[in-house]
Amino acid sequence: MPSNSLFHFITKIINFEGFKVTNYHFITENELLIQLENQESLSTCPQCHKVTDKVHQSHRYRVRDIPVSSFDVFLLVNRRQFRCNKSDKVFSEELNFFKKRRTYTIRLADKVVKEVLETDLVNAGKRNRVSPAEIETILKELELDLLEEKPKELKRLGIDEITHLCMW
Ligand SMILES: [Zn+2]
Repeated sequence: MPSNSLFHFITKIINFEGFKVTNYHFITENELLIQLENQESLSTCPQCHKVTDKVHQSHRYRVRDIPVSSFDVFLLVNRRQFRCNKSDKVFSEELNFFKKRRTYTIRLADKVVKEVLETDLVNAGKRNRVSPAEIETILKELELDLLEEKPKELKRLGIDEITHLCMW
């Protein structure tokens, strides 16, 4: 069955831990949309680290993934909001393959950035079927991520080191 083997192939190339491919279809003749479902019914509250299964609501996102041959690949995935059992506060689940407010997977961004560094913007764009504008967005958002991570780094430093840094 040809459609069955294509399904197996898609499942193999997607391979995100805890996610199952539930469906796929071609949006255009070279754009493939793959629907994923989270197999995990629990999430851990980032505040109190307690596990909850109360889903508050769910948002569906379309994110770009690494292309396959001459096909653009898009993923259709839900990011759920859970309600903490302890505080009753709502939080958004962390997914291991795409960051919040991003329209592409982490692995696509990693691949593009690596290839921009190894070759150039034009080549990296062609290989990954992304436009120069999309690469610019990826680079800009990577910079934002790094800036956001800096305060966390500071928190990890001891108070002595911070005092020392402030003296300079
Ligand atoms: Zn909590």
